[in-house]
Amino acid sequence: MRTSATLLLALTLAVAAPGTAAAQRPAAKSLQIYVVDVEGGNATLIVSPTGESLLIDSGNPSNGRDAARIVAAAKDAGVSQIDHFILTHYHADHLGGLPELAPMIPIRHFIDHGPNTDPMGSGAKFEGAWKELYAKAKHTAVKPGDRIPIGGLDVRVVTSNGEVIRTPLAGAGAPNPYCATFKPGTNNIEDPMSVGVHVTFGRFRTIHLGDLTKNKEFELMCPNNRLGTVDAILGVHHGQATSNSEVMIHAARPRVVIMTNGTRKGGEPDTMSVLHSSPGLEDVWQMHFSLLSGQEYTVPGMFIANVPDEAPAAMPVEPWMAPPQGTQAPPAPVHNGPAFWVKLTAQEDGTYSVTNSRNNFTKRYAR
Ligand SMILES: [Zn+2]
Repeated sequence: MRTSATLLLALTLAVAAPGTAAAQRPAAKSLQIYVVDVEGGNATLIVSPTGESLLIDSGNPSNGRDAARIVAAAKDAGVSQIDHFILTHYHADHLGGLPELAPMIPIRHFIDHGPNTDPMGSGAKFEGAWKELYAKAKHTAVKPGDRIPIGGLDVRVVTSNGEVIRTPLAGAGAPNPYCATFKPGTNNIEDPMSVGVHVTFGRFRTIHLGDLTKNKEFELMCPNNRLGTVDAILGVHHGQATSNSEVMIHAARPRVVIMTNGTRKGGEPDTMSVLHSSPGLEDVWQMHFSLLSGQEYTVPGMFIANVPDEAPAAMPVEPWMAPPQGTQAPPAPVHNGPAFWVKLTAQEDGTYSVTNSRNNFTKRYAR
């Protein structure tokens, strides 16, 4: 039959066509990175080619909502325990979900920058629970230059407790031309303490610097760029404008940024302008549409993983002003329904792809 013959021909071509994955060797073991939606907090799960796992932060306190989303990503990756957990810093959007997560999945190794430096900060009330958890397992306070032992990857600590690496990474260390025009930013107490890591898998490179602020970016990247260039930057402090200077973003030259923003947290015009003008940047992937971007500064919807439970009918063109902090703020749009991650899969040869699990849109980044 004609239909069968056509189908058979199509199948034959699919198997035989040079350049398709099927025609080449079986897929090599890859690095998988899940940026989980924790509503403007951070939870980034890194699974090495040997199946070992590193979770960076645990999202917000949310009656198990964020914890369940992290466990779902771990399950998708085939991971049944967290081998290493990095607490970047003691803020509730990074630590608050941990007491809810810990009973749901075993965590073997707890990593931080040392004790909390801000007794008035949002994460201070969770420090006791943190200490209780790590007392029953392994605990390491890391310094810049330390390595986190994970099979198949080189995971290097580049910032911690307000210190930065002093020696450039291999192949890095060129003068950073953006230092000359750097404008200092504002700091709170804990963000600049963030544990930041640089991850190498074969020819693929990425960084996650927690909520490291602009002044620390300057210390890390000036006068010489100690990190070199990377393929992707993860987190970017939710896309907040207290971070993301040109000395960091433009010098690191990422092709991809995956932003842990909320509906009205991060993604504001200053950050989006730096990202959109970064040399070589191809795509910004976001956890949410940010009202602080407005349509003016945002990215196409296919790169945005989540919408609130009751999505507005029209997207505002003008960026919103950031709402006031704390009890002055109007309630955030609710998102307790299905949540979606952005997943990056990298190969040892440096090629990688990024997928939005809401719409299954995937883009492949060749070397
Ligand atoms: Zn944060």
